[in-house]
Amino acid sequence: MLTAICQPGQTKVEARNVSKADGPFICPTCRKDVIVSKGLIRIHHFRHKPPVTCYRGRGESQQHLAAKQAIYDALLVQAGVADLELEKDFGVSVADVYARISGVPVAIEIQKSNLSVADITARTLNYHRLGIAVLWLGLWNPELGSLKYRPKAWERWCHAAYFGRVFYWAGGETIRPVQFAPFSTYVEERTWYESGGYEQSAGGYSKRSKAFRTPRRGTDHRISGDFVRRLNDGFRGGSVSVPRCTLYASNKKN
Ligand SMILES: [Zn+2]
Repeated sequence: MLTAICQPGQTKVEARNVSKADGPFICPTCRKDVIVSKGLIRIHHFRHKPPVTCYRGRGESQQHLAAKQAIYDALLVQAGVADLELEKDFGVSVADVYARISGVPVAIEIQKSNLSVADITARTLNYHRLGIAVLWLGLWNPELGSLKYRPKAWERWCHAAYFGRVFYWAGGETIRPVQFAPFSTYVEERTWYESGGYEQSAGGYSKRSKAFRTPRRGTDHRISGDFVRRLNDGFRGGSVSVPRCTLYASNKKN
């Protein structure tokens, strides 16, 4: 986690702005002591003292921390962005970044490897009830530039929820949309003769892969300029089920 409560002043502080001497610091969720971790290479952050029983900050990689810090910093200087807060607590979850963008309350959530589709669905529903539009983001990875890609369960969910696109963070407030197009394999044609001399053949057609897709990258988006509040009435298909929810979705064609 990037923020904690500084006990002397009872104020929320960022790890990068304080030193150990400013403490003690406590976790805003469980109120237990946290340690400020500062280094030259790693992103400055707070961590619980073991044994860790609190969900706040769990499963956050350095990449995840870097992404939310960068999104926060980028939005800080954008016009039309108000009430910006890093790690805003919503009871059942902590939004990585929260802001009111052009009047729309938005929660930005960056996907973590330990988050299941059930978790994503529950958080999305919670934001919907609170009237907050949610933007789920993945971290961009070079594999998305290949022709054959196996989307994970959360990517399939996001693709269905966000009207056929998944959004990946690519630095600052730059978001890279990806559409997953069908991936087909060619089944070779083969012929053979049955005992009576009849010729038989099979194959010679393209077969759509269930597991693989071809990622198609769209034009880069800006969080503060290319998204709007959109209601998804709900979707059910295959193994994916999206509830009626309020999303912060693209207003661009591609
Ligand atoms: Zn805690």
